[in-house]
Amino acid sequence: MALQDIRIVLVNTSHSGNIGSVARAMKTMGFSQLYLVDPACEVDSHASALAAGATDVLGNAVTVGKLEDAIADCSLVIGTSARSRTLSWPMVDPRECAQKLVAESASGPVALVFGRENSGLTNEELQLCNYHVCIPANPDYSSLNLAMAVQTLTYETRMTFLDTQDVQPEEDDTKYPTSEQMELFYEHLESTLNETGFIVKQHPGMVMTKLKRLFNRARPEDQELNILRGILSSVNKSTKQNHKD
Ligand code: SAH
Repeated sequence: MALQDIRIVLVNTSHSGNIGSVARAMKTMGFSQLYLVDPACEVDSHASALAAGATDVLGNAVTVGKLEDAIADCSLVIGTSARSRTLSWPMVDPRECAQKLVAESASGPVALVFGRENSGLTNEELQLCNYHVCIPANPDYSSLNLAMAVQTLTYETRMTFLDTQDVQPEEDDTKYPTSEQMELFYEHLESTLNETGFIVKQHPGMVMTKLKRLFNRARPEDQELNILRGILSSVNKSTKQNHKD
């Protein structure tokens, strides 16, 4: 377990200065893994200037095209939001967020995702996350600068991490599916529900979103997801059989 296993993901950032300031905020708190999803600016000299002594974090940043690519191998993804959205999703406060990140980073990569300066994360992006975290700022003025939000949440995570250094962590070897495995499961579920006629292609409605929210809340373990995939395969087999008969 180390802060280096916790990934900071910035989606579609438009100001290079913010990327530099994020690198600095990360390094001061002991983080090093920065992912840039489809940045809307160059990582230029302005970014380096604001990164100050953290240009190594900038230099090692990984750039990808889509959020899915930045989190594919993560078993825990927490999205940040300055306000609650119409779509309700499991929420955690910054301390719970820190505890979850620190605990789960022991078994593999985990990610904390930040949105665009002007519009945050889209609902589709937020739905790729297991939890949402909101810094409980002034309700009349709750939107922090991107790098300040990174600083606040990485500080909170560092505090939790330092606390755990003194106590023996509890043994928990439960394995959770990665984000990519969950997406593949959702595709399988959707195609099966189309096959059985439960979802009408022309009128899909909100069924998949609601089912995703249900499974996200339940957080199936690896073994449980295997059982669910097995159930879907048995349904696929029997629908094919019925078509033949
Ligand atoms: N106008 C945007 C806010 C964007 S602020 C909106 O309404 O969503 C840029 C990013 O900083 C956000 O996407 C989020 O990642 C982070 N951020 C800002 N304020 C935050 C807060 N109070 N809690 C959590 N994250 C916050």
